[in-house]
Amino acid sequence: MKAYDALVIGGGPAGATAVLYLARAGASVAWAERLSPGGQMLLTEAIDNYPGFPDGVKGWELADKMAAHLEHYAFVRYRQAVLSMEVDTGRHVVQLENEQLIAKTVIICSGASHRRLGLPNEEKLIGRGVSYCALCDGNFFKNQDVAVVGGGNSALEEALYLARIVRKLYLIHRRDAFRADKIYQDKVLALSDTIEPVLNTVVTAVHGGDLLESINLRNVQTREERKLKVDGLFVFVGTVPQGQFLPAGLARDAHGFIVTDAEMGTNLPGIYAAGDIRSKLCRQVATAVGDGATAGHAASIYLEQSHA
Ligand code: NAP
Repeated sequence: MKAYDALVIGGGPAGATAVLYLARAGASVAWAERLSPGGQMLLTEAIDNYPGFPDGVKGWELADKMAAHLEHYAFVRYRQAVLSMEVDTGRHVVQLENEQLIAKTVIICSGASHRRLGLPNEEKLIGRGVSYCALCDGNFFKNQDVAVVGGGNSALEEALYLARIVRKLYLIHRRDAFRADKIYQDKVLALSDTIEPVLNTVVTAVHGGDLLESINLRNVQTREERKLKVDGLFVFVGTVPQGQFLPAGLARDAHGFIVTDAEMGTNLPGIYAAGDIRSKLCRQVATAVGDGATAGHAASIYLEQSHA
């Protein structure tokens, strides 16, 4: 079993920043990530609210830059999923797919994934018309008709991306107003030739055999039901924490996100959390980077104090 001062779990901007701060503090660091470094940035076409990039930056480009920055530092990378974690102060045992690691401190940055609508057929039609990533799947719907569900920043941002590709886009939201930032709402309104907002409406059924054929909509005010023929259904109705491996006893909020203090410390000594997995108001690349820096710094102080 290999032992490290610190294990960082998760390859997104929070994890990358935590690794950077710990390595710079001289800790021996292991970094476990399931896929390529970048996390959700890799699924985002353009990021236009990360300071320092006045013209925006492609998600993959920012991920590449963060990975390049880490090349100057020493750490050990494990490209494996974390399966479980056993908490034991000063000697936490973490089970990866193919090995077990021991770490004095663990920084959990495993992020969040897209929430599903939870409708029958939704799962079966993933990759056959149902999608949670416009950047990944948008091109399959060139000049076709699609629906986007959700009223937050993700839904409107992804709708704006899809509007450049598809013929018609129905933007379906359950309330009478979007919660997305005004800048996105204004851009959506400006594309009224392609994007049709469908407000006060929920999707109640998803139909299709091999491919998605149509969806059912219900107006929540009039209770009126109708069928809408669409080739694609893109769902952006929020996120759920990715924490199947989290240990019992770790404090989480009602939605499963990890509760931390201002230093990113959890209720368990030596266990920190950063980024989208954390219970917080604002999930952005900028806030993930801030969380990662704070967690990395706090964990290095913890290591120093536990050596004293
Ligand atoms: P979000 O802000 O939580 O919005 C989720 C949307 O889905 C809400 O409009 C919600 O409706 C709706 N919804 C939830 N459950 C639903 C259901 N079962 N059926 C139908 N609609 C449902 O999630 P998000 O848009 O994924 O964003 C997550 C975080 O990332 C936010 O903090 C967001 O600001 C951030 N983000 C930022 C950017 C950016 O700044 N460029 C881009 C993407 C994401 P209600 O409005 O009625 O609750």
